[in-house]
Amino acid sequence: MHTAAWPLPFYGVRFRPVTLALAALLVASACGSGAGDGAAVGRAPDTAPTTTQAPTTIVTTTTEPDPATATAVVTPAGIVAPVISRAGDGWVVRTPCNATATLTRAKAKSAGSPVIVLDPGHGGAEPGAVSPGGLIEKDINLAVARETKTALEAAGVTTLITRSGDYDVALPTRSEIARAVNPKAFVSIHHNAEPDGPRDGPGTETYYQIGSTDSKRLAGLVYEEVVKAMSQYKVAWVADRDAGAKYRPGTNGDYYAMLRQPGKVVSVLAELAFITNQPESLLLARPEVQKVEGEAVARGIVRYLTTTDPGSGFVEPYPRIDPPSTGSATPRPCHDPQL
Ligand SMILES: [Zn+2]
Repeated sequence: MHTAAWPLPFYGVRFRPVTLALAALLVASACGSGAGDGAAVGRAPDTAPTTTQAPTTIVTTTTEPDPATATAVVTPAGIVAPVISRAGDGWVVRTPCNATATLTRAKAKSAGSPVIVLDPGHGGAEPGAVSPGGLIEKDINLAVARETKTALEAAGVTTLITRSGDYDVALPTRSEIARAVNPKAFVSIHHNAEPDGPRDGPGTETYYQIGSTDSKRLAGLVYEEVVKAMSQYKVAWVADRDAGAKYRPGTNGDYYAMLRQPGKVVSVLAELAFITNQPESLLLARPEVQKVEGEAVARGIVRYLTTTDPGSGFVEPYPRIDPPSTGSATPRPCHDPQL
């Protein structure tokens, strides 16, 4: 049982929701680690707590953005759509399936107004990984992201979620949301498949953007908090041999689109646990565990925003082979939800 109550004042930082707000990626395919030789994995990287520095400035306003300057909107159905242009009193927006639509009624968001964008991986026709018992990654990603969102907002951190239900969201749309809103950070939430072998603790992986010290620090903090929180559960954990906070190079920079496409937006992609491992999937099916995991992600994000803690768990990844791009696969149809 997770005993820490949420929200907590973080290391002496007390948030006042509403009056204070803080100022200061996605997988190319279903979750999996790719190359691996099936060898048993080693011990966890160092996750020792780190010294907490004085918090950085806490600012920002919570005023409603002017519709004329909105860079993204939330539709009446709760769908987030980046704005392409103004159209009368409404907007031409990008739909989840990367098409365009005209909206006359929606809630405006402007650049910087949500401090954090959360990105629950997969959705709709794309399930992600599936556990032996039929637990589907897209559902757990959304449930955990919602817990993270609730926890962040309780701490006074405004958020936006790229997917608010079970529908398709194309990778270009997710990254366009990130670029449009320009948050302090963009965090993709996933659950993993294809472990190398057993491990004495959670096989959490967080991926950061190559060359971004901010992304690396955020990945280290999310890693630290998630491993600390999930280690309370004594189950037959599995992992890749290089579990930890790491990067993954592709042919064009970062391998993962959700780290590459957001451009200058600090992005992290987290594979929080292995949903394909039955003992872990039984944990992930429990709402209170989803809450523990989601709150841990939120704590990592809040520490990123309010401290200079470096994070931990950094590892050198072993080389992974990019899946060949055959170009012959039939594109998966994308169906837009009701806006
Ligand atoms: Zn995934």
